[in-house]
Amino acid sequence: MSTEQHREIKRLAVDKALHWSTSTGDHGSLIGKFRAEVKNHYYLWQRRRCCYCSVELQNHKITFDAEHILDKAEYPEYMFDEGNLAVACKLCNQYKSNKSISSTGLRFSELSKKSHDYSIVHPHLDEWSEHLQFDVIGRIVPVAESTKGKTTVSICGMASLNATRLADQFAIEETAEAETALRVFHEVVDIGRKREFLSLLEEMAQRYGHPGARAVVEALRSDVQHLQLAQPSAPAVAMLPAGNEPHANGHEPPQYEFQSQLLGPNEPPLASSA
Ligand SMILES: [Zn+2]
Repeated sequence: MSTEQHREIKRLAVDKALHWSTSTGDHGSLIGKFRAEVKNHYYLWQRRRCCYCSVELQNHKITFDAEHILDKAEYPEYMFDEGNLAVACKLCNQYKSNKSISSTGLRFSELSKKSHDYSIVHPHLDEWSEHLQFDVIGRIVPVAESTKGKTTVSICGMASLNATRLADQFAIEETAEAETALRVFHEVVDIGRKREFLSLLEEMAQRYGHPGARAVVEALRSDVQHLQLAQPSAPAVAMLPAGNEPHANGHEPPQYEFQSQLLGPNEPPLASSA
């Protein structure tokens, strides 16, 4: 597309005369060309990686999205601005949706080029590896105490992606159950709740004895221990939600339905994997 066509398309966006998905009318083919150009360009420029979770994108346009860093509905004036565009996997794009990414919580008055104005890792203004990394069990986690890293994990729903990846380590018969337990383990904040889901995962890892599953459980147990040290006032056992009677073994069942039986609070820890 020519520079003039790019100018034209931006002007029309400011006038709200067209939408990102416009495919008919006078400008339909122009918009279609622009969308294709954006996807081709950033697919290569980002080395075939999602700008948020770094997952490898497949070489077919239907498998990933053009990403509007500032939401296109809230900021139509930047809908066709290259500085506000990237490519993202469908999961990150859908989770991020129209959530605010302003670090001040205020509406942007311009398309800021300052990294600190954005609460998440910005595809053009930040170095991914300064804020996010893969840990020893393959999860995407924030680097050290990176606030941007933490917010990106939260806004892009990476607990879900991490859970899917870790569930691969469990027996096929229990993958779906493990995935749910892993996702909730990462989403809940309360240490007591985390312990409940850790117990379920421990049981699954023990039942089939997959070394990968045991390694995952070891890492999660270490996470809980670190959290406990960081919050010494937190109870060392599961907290009971108000209004619920405890189970016979004194351990509150999770709100999610699992077929597995919960481990009692005094069950011995898993033996180290061989
Ligand atoms: Zn992604």
